[in-house]
Amino acid sequence: MVARVVERLNFTPAQVDPFAEWLKDRVAVPDWLNAAKGSESYAKVAKLIYSIRRVESLVDRFLAENWFRVVSDAKRIPAEIDEQYQELLRTEEWIDEALSGYEYSPRMMNDVDENHWSLSMYSAQAPTGFVLKRKMSGRGFKGVMLTATGSNTVYLQTIGEADIVLRILNLSAASELERLKQCARCSKWLYAERSHQRFCPGGECRKEKYAESPKYKEYRKQYMRRQRKKQAAEQSMKPLQVKHNDDRP
Ligand SMILES: [Zn+2]
Repeated sequence: MVARVVERLNFTPAQVDPFAEWLKDRVAVPDWLNAAKGSESYAKVAKLIYSIRRVESLVDRFLAENWFRVVSDAKRIPAEIDEQYQELLRTEEWIDEALSGYEYSPRMMNDVDENHWSLSMYSAQAPTGFVLKRKMSGRGFKGVMLTATGSNTVYLQTIGEADIVLRILNLSAASELERLKQCARCSKWLYAERSHQRFCPGGECRKEKYAESPKYKEYRKQYMRRQRKKQAAEQSMKPLQVKHNDDRP
């Protein structure tokens, strides 16, 4: 029994397919955004993300404060709330308008291992705007197969603006768009595996940011002061050793 469990655990890492992993929205979307930075496509897509998030936060506020129930009674709505309500309508309109430029087709794919159909959508146009290309080896059904030697298959995956927009809509519909963030230190895009994650994975950016903070600097100053005092006290207690140390070049 134990042996079987160990065997299964050992087998798990081999099952993680880097290509299939990259096809996931949570991996591909930050990858595209980081690569596309500075392009016209990026500006459009970033505005779309901001707009969807803005609608979500406005609706959150209206729900929390119960404004949807009194929206029909104009007299009871403060100007600030009315302005935000108009902003909500304008933003939703902008999103509709921005999305009307993209065309998608349904696609059915049969996973031959399980004879199982999966339904997805894909961009009907040739990739436009910023196009991200990634070569990946592994098992995958999407993308264009480049070479196949033995069990090693190399696929080329291209992601254009319309493709990334569809993936962003997917994340939104799954209520996961709030997980798409920019690192609080280096502003690289990331998918926060935990809702409170604010920095790139790996911990480097978090440590760097902490080292820059006034709180840490003050802590460091106090620590150095204590160390100097301690050293001075130690030296005054061991005059001979101090002399010896001073003689060193
Ligand atoms: Zn970072």
